[in-house]
Amino acid sequence: MKTSHFPLSTTKEFPKDAEIISHQLMIKSGMIRRLASGLYTWSPLGLRVLHKVENVVREEMDKSGSLEVLMPSVIPAELWKETGRWDQFGKQLLTLKDRHENDYCLGPTHEEAITDFARQELKSYRQLPISFYQIQWKFRDEIRPRFGVMRSREFLMKDAYSFHIDAASLEAEYQNMYRTYSAIFDRLQLEYRAVLADSGAIGGDRSQEFHVLADSGEDAIVISTESTYAANIERAETHAGTKYAAPQQAFEKVATPNARTVEDVAKQLNVPIAKITKTLIVHAEDGSLIAICLRGDHSLNEVKAGNFKGIANPVVFASDAEIVEKLGVSPGSIGPVNLPIPVLFDHALYSESDFICGANENGFHYVGVNFERDLPFTGTHDFRNIEEGDISPDGQGTVKFIRGIEVGHIFQLGNKYSTAMNASVVNENGEQTIMEMGCYGIGMTRIVAAAIEQSHDEKGIIWPDVMAPFKLSLIPMNYHKSEVVKELADKLYKEFLALGVEVLLEDRDIRPGNAFNDHELIGIPHRLVIGERGLKNNELEYKGRKDAESSFIPVDSAVEFIMNQLKK
Ligand code: ATP
Ligand code: MG
Repeated sequence: MKTSHFPLSTTKEFPKDAEIISHQLMIKSGMIRRLASGLYTWSPLGLRVLHKVENVVREEMDKSGSLEVLMPSVIPAELWKETGRWDQFGKQLLTLKDRHENDYCLGPTHEEAITDFARQELKSYRQLPISFYQIQWKFRDEIRPRFGVMRSREFLMKDAYSFHIDAASLEAEYQNMYRTYSAIFDRLQLEYRAVLADSGAIGGDRSQEFHVLADSGEDAIVISTESTYAANIERAETHAGTKYAAPQQAFEKVATPNARTVEDVAKQLNVPIAKITKTLIVHAEDGSLIAICLRGDHSLNEVKAGNFKGIANPVVFASDAEIVEKLGVSPGSIGPVNLPIPVLFDHALYSESDFICGANENGFHYVGVNFERDLPFTGTHDFRNIEEGDISPDGQGTVKFIRGIEVGHIFQLGNKYSTAMNASVVNENGEQTIMEMGCYGIGMTRIVAAAIEQSHDEKGIIWPDVMAPFKLSLIPMNYHKSEVVKELADKLYKEFLALGVEVLLEDRDIRPGNAFNDHELIGIPHRLVIGERGLKNNELEYKGRKDAESSFIPVDSAVEFIMNQLKK
C-alpha cells in the first residue's frame, strides 16, 4: 500500500469524552470515526487491524472443531418471547417493527436464534456434540456508551454455542473452549487472566471471563500472587482460615460506656479494630432475626449473605428499634455470647482467640472471648468482602486487586434455553432428551481497544505484531526530488510485496518529521528509512517501533534483515 492511495487520517484532535488512551489513539490514528453515540465507522486502517483479530479468532475456532455460521442480526420477537427475555432483557434490547407491525429486536446476543436453528437441524444424539460460531455485529443500547469501541452500542462479537446430550459432554467442550480462548489471547499477545465469574467457588468454574489486565479496566478483579487464581472481587470467596489458638486470657466483662461502633470500642480499650468481633443483625426469610459475626475491620458482602440459606435475599438489616425490642440491647453492645437468636460466623473468625465482642448489655463488652470455652463453635461461613493481602482462596499466596477489561466469556448454560424452546434430540434409547448448551463470547472490537490500552507510548500505538495494520514502513526522504531514493524505494517496495510483506510506502510529499510521526502513531512495528545521506555509505536506517535508537544496515541485506525481524 502507498500512503498516496491509503488515507492516513491522523489528527491531533480528539473529543473531550475520549477519557482513555485507546479511545484517544484510535481517533488520533484515524482508525475509527464516530457516527453517533456508541456507533463507529472503521476506517480502512482500523479495519485492517480488526481483520487481523478476526483471522486469529477464526483460525482457532475452526481448529477447536466449531463450525462457522452467520445468523441475521434482526431477530423476531416470538423467539425472545419463548424464553421470556423479550420482557426480561430490559432497555439494552433495541426493538423495532416491520411494515406488518411485527416486532423484532436487534440481536444483542444469539441464544434464541441459534437454539431455533439447532432444534430444526439436530434430531439425534448421533449429531452431538456440535458447536456453531459466528462473527457478527451485536447491538446493545448501553446506558452509557463510552471509551470508544470499548463500550459501544454496536460491536463485533464472536459468539459460539455448543449442544450436548449430557453435562459431561458440555464440560468437555467448556474445557476445549478454555484452551481455545487461551490460544487466541496468547496469539494476540495480550496479558490476560481467566477470571471466575460466578460464585468464585474453587472447582465451580461454570463461567469464566477472560480479562486483559489494564489500569483503565472497568472491572475489579482479585488475583493470587502465587497461583493462577483470579475472580471478580465482589464474588471472590474468602479462604476458610486456620483454626484458632488456645485461650490465653481470662473471659471478662468490661465497661465501654457510650461506645457505638467497633472504632469506639477499639479506642476505649486501646486495641486494634481487628481484635473486635462485630455482630450484624439481619432478617431471616421468615422475618425473624439472625446474627452474622465478622471481624471488626471486615465488611459484609451482601450478595454472599443474601445467598446463604435462611437469610432473606436481598439482605434486610434489622432496625435499631427492632434490635432493642427483640434483643433488649442497643446495637453497639450486641455479641454472640448467649444471644437468643441463631448466630453465624464469618471464616475469618475461625482463626480468632481472645477476641472482644458486645456483652448484650448496654455499655459493656466481653474481652478474652474464646470458642468452645465461652461460646460454642458452630462452624464458619463466607460472608465478607475479600481484601488485599488476604490468603488466596486456593490457599496459594495472598490476593492482590487489579483491574481488567473483559474480552471474553465462557459459560455453561445448561438447559435454560433448550428447555424454554424445546430443543431436544432422541437419545440412545430413542427418548426425546433436552440438549445441554454452552455459550462462548469474544468482544472482537473491544480487543482492539484493549490491546492499545496495554501497549502504547507517548508517540502512539505499539501493536502486537499479529494485529499491526502493516508490518513495515518504507519511508524515503525526498522521494519526489531524489531519483536514487525513489528508484530504491520503489524497488524495495515491490520486493517486499512479492515476499508477501504488508508494507506501507510513504509516497506523500510531506515533511519527514510528519511522516515519522504518522507511522509511529499508527504503530507499524518496523521502519526502513531511505535517504541520500545513508545511500552514500550504501546504508539504510532501521528502527523497530519499540527501539530507542535506530541502526544502519547495508542496502544489499535490507530485505533479508527485515524478513528475519518479521520471523521473530
Ligand atoms: P460487560 O460486563 O462488559 O457489559 P457482558 O458481560 O455484557 O460485558 P457478554 O454478554 O458476555 O458481555 O458478551 C461477550 C463479550 O462481548 C464480552 O466479553 C465483551 O468483550 C464484549 N462486549 C459486551 N458488551 C460490549 C460493548 N458494549 N461494547 C464492546 N464489547 C462488548
Ligand atoms: Mg454488558
